[in-house]
Amino acid sequence: MAPTIVPSTTPGPDPHVDLHTDTPTQMVRKGVGLDDPDLESGLAAMHKGGTNVVVEVLWPPKDPATPDAWAAQVERLFAKVESEDKRLEAVELAKSPADVRRALAAGHVAMLVSIEGAHGIDKVGVAGLAALHDRGLSLIGLTWTFSNRFAGSSGDPPAGNPEGTGLTDAGRDLVDEANRLGVVLDVSHASDAATLETCQRSHAPIIASHSDADGVRVQARNLSDEAIRCIAQKGGVIGLNFHSTFVGSGADVAKVADHADYLKKIGGAGVVALGSDFDGLIKTPEGLTDAGDIPNLWAELKRRGWTEDELRGVQGANFMRTWQAVIDAAGEPHAPR
Ligand SMILES: [Zn+2]
Repeated sequence: MAPTIVPSTTPGPDPHVDLHTDTPTQMVRKGVGLDDPDLESGLAAMHKGGTNVVVEVLWPPKDPATPDAWAAQVERLFAKVESEDKRLEAVELAKSPADVRRALAAGHVAMLVSIEGAHGIDKVGVAGLAALHDRGLSLIGLTWTFSNRFAGSSGDPPAGNPEGTGLTDAGRDLVDEANRLGVVLDVSHASDAATLETCQRSHAPIIASHSDADGVRVQARNLSDEAIRCIAQKGGVIGLNFHSTFVGSGADVAKVADHADYLKKIGGAGVVALGSDFDGLIKTPEGLTDAGDIPNLWAELKRRGWTEDELRGVQGANFMRTWQAVIDAAGEPHAPR
């Protein structure tokens, strides 16, 4: 919906951001809208839990493994998000931090769009990123669970090389183009090698939208201390993932909070964010079964001594800082390396 125009300086509610939901896939599969009450991150659950900025992920499954099929799925999901934006008064497709502030001031939910895996732009290539960005793409993940022509995935490290493969030439071009446009680079699912290479090459902060810490549970999808440090030093954020396989055995609110404490210990409180993976067919932890339960995590962190400022950061201010920095760095020429 066209938002009510209010100055961007108008104070609104604090942003409560979820950096990764697979809700578009579920909406298309089930033929429902964001107001469907059974979605883990539908409007009702978000209202209950306080989420007011949500990354709606366009996820092209691996199979059928053709660039045409991936592009068609991205199109289908993007169109669904756009149709919900038009259909529902309570949500806005946000393309900038200013759009988010306007949506929040109007009491609406801001939807950001991301593609999970650069195979989703295989057909249009790096040159096609600009058109997607114009349409409202704000973030892009380098890979999903398999390596693509841009980067290595944590899902399939070659035998004898647990770090996995890094960026290809096309991947380096993608990093540079995302930097130029102000698109946020997301290294969740990328191999350790691709994560570090992206972190070092990018001249803007990067994020891991939905990843936990190896320091709490060693898992291919979780981040090494080196990766956490690099993302933090760049000014990026890491979204806590709620999937029990990544959280660890006996996954519950306390165990998710252990990951938050660990990320804070290694990277500082400013690196911590939230990327639930809701509606992604995850095994949810006890006490975090849908977006309505997220306040349970805030209560646990508060109990552990996180300050109000630190909590506001995790809830959304950290990501909004990162996103603005990516946009501020856009257009700067890339230093040769
Ligand atoms: Zn994922």
